[in-house]
Amino acid sequence: MPDIELPEAPVIAGARHVHSGKVRDLYEIEAGEHAGRLLMVASDRISAFDFVLDSTIPDKGEILTRMSLWWFGQLADVVPHHVVSTDVPPEVAGRAVICERLEMYQVECVVRGYLTGSGLLDYRSGGEVCGIALPAGLVDGSRLPRPIFTPATKAALGDHDENVSYAAVVTEVGAEVAARLRELTLAVYDRAEKMAREHRIILADTKLELGVRDDATIVLGDEVLTPDSSRFWPAEQWQPGRAQPSYDKQIVRDWLLSPESGWDRTCPDAPPPLPEKVVDHTRARYLQAYELLTGERF
Ligand code: ATP
Ligand code: MG
Repeated sequence: MPDIELPEAPVIAGARHVHSGKVRDLYEIEAGEHAGRLLMVASDRISAFDFVLDSTIPDKGEILTRMSLWWFGQLADVVPHHVVSTDVPPEVAGRAVICERLEMYQVECVVRGYLTGSGLLDYRSGGEVCGIALPAGLVDGSRLPRPIFTPATKAALGDHDENVSYAAVVTEVGAEVAARLRELTLAVYDRAEKMAREHRIILADTKLELGVRDDATIVLGDEVLTPDSSRFWPAEQWQPGRAQPSYDKQIVRDWLLSPESGWDRTCPDAPPPLPEKVVDHTRARYLQAYELLTGERF
């Protein structure tokens, strides 16, 4: 497991730093109308192969924040979301939201409409993903007969998430909540996949994080349907049987694995900083995803 060192989270007046993940910094608001709520700040950090890279992608935090907000709005009739306000301290303007504090379920709610990544690896080793049997003959990028709920455990910083069976989710949260998480996750996918398809983008899979309010309402938290939590593929280029081109950090992964980077994935050393062209290209890719999906200019 790689040792992750994060940069110090910026100091924000009136907010107490409570947590940093690979990409986001979380604060608790100390006073005023939002006292006790969370300030979720998306940095420009980028992770790959479970490392946080030394390079940042300019505007990434803002692009992903805007994208999440757009989706939360589109999905509002499917599931309530946690965002309360975008009126955030000036130093994090555009890249942060104020949200309700939820009790998060310790389950990564993953849904796949297409087979790739860890789902493909599981399928190759036993014909199933998270205990769901799939037909024979599927390849990298195949569309599944129907979207499937493939939950994963939430791993600690630097650790890999692990796919688990539905039964494991039932054990974690109880049968009633497990059924609701699955139902909501599939409903979000159904809506988002259709909307993305209208913009000639395939939503191959996505990960949601759901939590619960004091009154037992289940609410969509975290970020949603961004390139950091989802696989978006240009529909025209979809061709099962190979890795698909993707609107995310694939460029970064490809460069890190190329001889040019000089990095060896099997060694424990952190990857080298990215060359400017890879940074620019990655930023352009994130922007393109945002603009294509939302129809808005950044
Ligand atoms: P990483 O994503 O790097 O694997 P991480 O998930 O711990 O690690 P972030 O995603 O950067 O880190 O941090 C967001 C954290 O905030 C997550 O733990 C997520 O579950 C939590 N979170 C998101 N929304 C809410 C909310 N409304 N209430 C409470 N916690 C939340
Ligand atoms: Mg996270």
